[in-house]
Order: sequence, then C-alpha cells, then structure tokens
Amino acid sequence: MQVSLLYHTPNPERAVATAARLCYAPLGAAELMEGMSDERAGKVLATIMKSGHFSALEHASYTFAVDGVSRALTHQLVRHRLASYNQQSQRYVTFSDDPEVVLPQTVADDAEALSAFNTAIDVAYATYTQLIEAGIPAEDARYVLPNACVTKIVVTMNIRELLHFFEVRCCHRAQWEIQELAHRMLELAAPTAPYLFLDAGAVCRRGPCAEGKMTCGDPFERVVRP
Ligand SMILES: Cc1cc2nc3c(=O)[nH]c(=O)nc-3n(C[C@H](O)[C@H](O)[C@H](O)COP(=O)(O)OP(=O)(O)OC[C@H]3O[C@@H](n4cnc5c(N)ncnc54)[C@H](O)[C@@H]3O)c2cc1C
Repeated sequence: MQVSLLYHTPNPERAVATAARLCYAPLGAAELMEGMSDERAGKVLATIMKSGHFSALEHASYTFAVDGVSRALTHQLVRHRLASYNQQSQRYVTFSDDPEVVLPQTVADDAEALSAFNTAIDVAYATYTQLIEAGIPAEDARYVLPNACVTKIVVTMNIRELLHFFEVRCCHRAQWEIQELAHRMLELAAPTAPYLFLDAGAVCRRGPCAEGKMTCGDPFERVVRP
C-alpha cells in the first residue's frame, strides 16, 4: 500500500479558526484571518473542539493518493459519502494476465490456503485475458476479476469527515486493510494540524468504546484535550 498526502488547505488550523470566529465577529473573514494571533487561533480551536461547533472543520480539506490497495478496500472506503473520489477505471484500463493482487496475511501464512488463493487468482485473470482476446469489452470482462485486484484511488475529505473516518476505521474492529489505510492517512495529516488531530483516531482515544459486546477490549491510549 502506498499512501501520500497530495495537498491540503494551506494553514488548516487558521482556516478553521477564521471560519468559526466569523460567526461571532463584526469583521469579515479576510480581516479576521490577517489579524488573528496564534494565541487567539488556539483559543478558538479549543472552543470548537470542546463545544462541538464542528461545521468549521469543513473549511479545510485533504487529498490523498492511495495506490496498491485492493478493490475490497476501496469498496469500503467509498461508503464514506462526505468525500470525493476518483478511482482507476476497470473499463478504460485493461489489465495484463500477470495478476496484481493484495494478499491477506492470513492466506500467506497458510500454505494450503495460499495455494487455493493463487489458483483462483490465476483462473480469474486467465479468464479475463481470454475474454479480452475474444473481443469482450473490458467493462464486461472485469466481472470475473477478484476483490483482491490492486487499484488506485484519490480521496479528498474535509477535517470533519476525516475525524469521523478515523473514528470508525482506525478502530481495531475495522477490517485490517482499511485500518492500515486510516492509520497511514492519520500519520500524514496529524503534523499539518496538530491541535485538530490531537485526539484523532478510534473512538476510544476520546471516550468509551462504542462497540458494546463487540469491543476488542484493547483500547488505544486515551488523549485528554488541554
Ligand atoms: C467495523 C465496520 C463494519 C461494517 N460492516 C458493514 C456491513 O456489514 N455492511 C454494510 O453495509 N456496511 C458496513 N460498514 C459500513 C458502515 O455501515 C458505513 O457505511 C460506513 O462506515 C460509512 O460510515 P458513515 O455512514 O457513518 O459515514 P459517512 O458516509 O462518512 O458520513 C459521515 C456522517 O455524516 C452523516 N451522514 C452522511 N450521510 C447521511 C445521510 N444520508 N443521512 C443522515 N446523515 C448522514 C452521518 O452522521 C455519518 O456518520 C461497516 C463499517 C465498519 C467501520
């Protein structure tokens, strides 16, 4: 899996603080942004995070390039509706019969399972190639390709959606591949807005686990905001 932060709103914390401050100030956003000290911005951010005035978090966005992940992962990712996506097409890109797939560790660790997995992948790709060579359009031939297929996707989320995404996908209960993606995205985003991402991550970073009987029983270290 390769994950990179392509770009983000410049000075995201100041952008968020300015938007929040606008609600209560007689000045315009441009003036507020220019005249806001770091100390003032810090106080505004603390108020937002404690009061739940989260709409201000929507004014800063992050765009990530994600390569070498499975279609099983991207199917889960795109369930997050408050985000923008572009994904490598299986209609316009034709794949070679040299299968590029994500191999789950559980399969890799079990010789019999690995052999069955490899056979299924080989058959799927051989059939795909056969269909392409027979003139079947790629958009139809792709129906035989597996969930393990490697793909690339670009995703843009604002900070409010990122925090929600981290809550549910950094959790130990999330599926391992999307869990890894969420942690990589958090590692990349956190240094750009240290205060806003201070307690970002699984729900248990901020409070009790929300998983009830399904809890993993192994909470992340709790972070208490100053
Ligand atoms: C551990 C785990 C297991 C899962 N298992 C399954 C499964 O078995 N089957 C399955 O189908 N899915 C499953 N999911 C996916 C899950 O149901 C959600 O579709 C996915 O996590 C996206 O979350 P979301 O809807 O909260 O967030 P987003 O789409 O990212 O939206 C963020 C928030 O915006 C608000 N929002 C967004 N759209 C609306 C709307 N239309 N109306 C009102 N409020 C809205 C909600 O508050 C929402 O939480 C699973 C997810 C996890 C983390």
